[in-house]
Order: sequence, then C-alpha cells, then structure tokens
Amino acid sequence: MSGEEDKQNITLNPFEIAKRQIDIVAKMTNLNPDLIEIIKHPKRILEVSIPVRMDDGKLRVFTGYRVQHNDARGPFKGGIRYHFQVDLDEVKALATWMSIKTAVVDIPYGGGKGGIICNPKEMSQPELERMTRRFTWEISGIIGPFRDIPAPDVNTNPQTMAWIMDTYSMSTGRATPGVVTGKPIALGGSLGRNEATSRGVVICAREAAKITGVKLKDATVAITGYGNVGYNAAWLIEELGAKVVACSDSKGGIYDPNGLDARKVRKHKSKTGSVKGYAGAKDIAGKDIIGLDVDFLFPCALENEITSENVDQVKARIISEGANGPTTPEADEVIFKKGIFLVPDILANAGGVTVSYFEWLQNIRREYWTEEAVNEKLEYRMVKAFHEVHDIAKKETVHMRTAAYVLAVGRIATVMELRGLYP
Ligand code: NDP
Repeated sequence: MSGEEDKQNITLNPFEIAKRQIDIVAKMTNLNPDLIEIIKHPKRILEVSIPVRMDDGKLRVFTGYRVQHNDARGPFKGGIRYHFQVDLDEVKALATWMSIKTAVVDIPYGGGKGGIICNPKEMSQPELERMTRRFTWEISGIIGPFRDIPAPDVNTNPQTMAWIMDTYSMSTGRATPGVVTGKPIALGGSLGRNEATSRGVVICAREAAKITGVKLKDATVAITGYGNVGYNAAWLIEELGAKVVACSDSKGGIYDPNGLDARKVRKHKSKTGSVKGYAGAKDIAGKDIIGLDVDFLFPCALENEITSENVDQVKARIISEGANGPTTPEADEVIFKKGIFLVPDILANAGGVTVSYFEWLQNIRREYWTEEAVNEKLEYRMVKAFHEVHDIAKKETVHMRTAAYVLAVGRIATVMELRGLYP
C-alpha cells in the first residue's frame, strides 16, 4: 500500500473518525482526560461465528459482531446491519456514534451496534431467518431489555426484529418484547417508529431552514439512498411543500428538476429493484447527487459519502444527515467554511432511537400510544436537542457536529464522573 493510500484508508476508517471527533471535544473543553480515554474505547466486543445451513444443503459460516460501546447512562442501544462491507471498525464506530446520539437527545441509553458480514440480497427468507436466529443465540448472553437492545439498520427490518425477539424469548422462557425495538406493530412495535428517523431528519432540516432563511415551499431536495430513511424523508419533506428533484440507491440515481413523486418512485423501485429508469426522470450516476445545485441534501445511504474528494462540488444550502457517518472530518471543515448549514447524523437521525426508546417504554409499561402522541413527543425532543446543539454552536463558533459532541460527551462524562471508576 502506498503512503497516500494508507493515509486515505486511515482518513476513511470510521472508527478513527469517531475517535478524532471525540479528541476535538477534548481539546475544546476541560473534561477529565481519563474519561475521554475511556469514551474512546468500546466497553465490550463480541465476535461470533454463525454456521447456517443454506437452502442448497451446503453449510456457510458467517461472521457477526456486537459491540457495546458505553452504558454509563443506561442499557446499550443500537441497530444490527447486514451488509457485505460490515467490518469491526465500522461496527465500533457505529456503536460509538450511538452513545453520542442517545446523549444528544438525552434518552437514558448508552450505545451499541451489531452487524453480520453477508449479502442479504442473495439470501432467501428462510436463510436470513436461520442466520438471524443463530446470531441472536450467540449474542443472547449479552443482550436483554435492561442490558442491550438491538434495532434495525441497513438491510434489517421489523421481521428481523421479530425473529430476534422470538429467539431471545425462547431462551428466557417468556415473551420479552423489550429486547429489541423496531418490531412489527402487532408484536409490540410502536406506531411512528418506521418513519421516525426520517421525521427527525426533516424536523432538523426545517429548523435549519428557519435559521438560514431558506423557504420550504418549492425548495429543492436531493437524497442519496432510497431505503427506510431516504424514502420516508422524501415524502415527509414533500409534505412540507418541497420538491425532491433527485435520489439514488446502490444501482444509480435519477434527476428531474420539476420534482419527482416520492411514493411513485418507491413503487417503481419495488417493481424493478432500483430508482433508475423512473419514467420522466433522467438517469444519473449515484455519485453525482452530492454535487447538485439544491437547497437541501439528505445523505441517507452509508458512511463516507461526502469526502475531501467531492466536498468542493457540494452546492446545497442545508445538509441533514440521515445516514451515519456520511461526512468525513476534512469535508466537515470545508462545509463549515462554505457556510453550508450541516445538521450532523448524531442529531439529525436520532429520531429513530428516540422512538425506539418510546417503543421500549410502551413495552415495559405494557402500554400502547397513539401515533399522534409518538410524533408529538418526537417533535418536542428533536426541536429541543436541535436548539441545545445550535446554542453551543453559536456560543463557541463551531459547527453543529462539534457542538453536538460537546453536549453529548459532556453528558456522558458527567455520569461517569459521578459513578466513579470501579473497583
Ligand atoms: P436501508 O437498507 O433501508 O437503505 C439503505 C439505502 O442505501 C438503500 O436504498 C441502498 O440501495 C442505498 N445504498 C447503499 N449503497 C449505496 C450507494 N453506494 N449509493 C447510493 N445508495 C446506496 O437502510 P436504512 O435506510 O435503514 O439506513 C440508511 C442509513 O441510515 C444508514 O447509514 C443507517 O445506519 C442510518 N440510520 C438508520 C436508522 C433507521 O432507523 N433505519 C436510524 C439511524 C440511522 P439499495 O436499495 O439498492 O440496496
């Protein structure tokens, strides 16, 4: 590997990025350096082998991870990702960001994350079920409604959560819905959970628009990723009068300056497997979405979408990050200097974990809340967190990501200080 390649790999390693972001806070504040050091290390990492009998009778052994980053403020909380690019450093970063995120929106959780290296698009439902159940069994000793509560992430969904809930419940001998969130409604899922992450992305975009003076009516929006987060963000921002002019998935992108129809694009994708080829829109390369001249950009796919390589092309006035880790620290600085208002992932996409918390509360209290009640509570928490972060950003003249870290790391460190070091 050349020196340049080596540097690039370090720059794009999400766990290195997560640690650098914590270091930035350490330099800015007078938090106890010992606590900062602890926060930079995940508390527990479990790697498991997952043998699965495939439909053709052959055996395959998958590798899975559960990383428990920090539980000073409450049980570990975070999704499970199925993707061929899952690796341990990615899971460690995502777990760290979960601890930060739960602290930004001030819910009584820590952070964790899981993943399995697999290509779910090439697996049948029975194969996915067998893999999920065996993975759950392997991690069942460290999860639980008061220990560590998984949820959906890329390529996992309410059905995956139902299998985890059932497998875990078999091991405890009683129905334990609170062990996962993002479940189907019939199984104790919460109304509003499916769209919650995107609702948060859109609430943050709306608040940022008020501050920057961008009008939502007829504003233009570009979205990368058209899964749970990207699609729901598309129709939600349309409801506020904006036009989604471009979107993409792993196969490519589409562009129509007159505005797409979010639900029709979704139908087209369900039929054909991609947003590409949507009638009336122009097919474009997925990577071109980042550079479109739009009012809002919602990166809703994977990490490292906006990097030092393409940040100069960004023309959006507001970025609200649906994905985790879509912008590298180098790109963050350029965006800040360009005067673009960026709402960072740890705030913008925290609506998902916030409604996961509401789901968990409903499960442990055996209650059911209406969708209006859920959305109202989500709105309150997101707006409050947004302005707490924005107040720090203004006071310290830093960008919103650093401000969010200052708030979150401060909250985690305060609790750790009070609890003290065991033994
Ligand atoms: P999904 O699996 O539902 O969707 C992911 C989308 O990203 C898919 O449309 C996929 O394309 C697309 N994608 C993958 N690679 C690329 C690429 N190279 N270029 C463009 N698009 C691509 O996942 P979610 O929507 O749940 O998650 C998306 C992001 O949001 C992740 O970063 C996740 O961690 C984050 N997030 C999710 C939360 C949730 O509640 N679901 C909560 C907080 C954060 P294709 O459809 O072709 O596979």
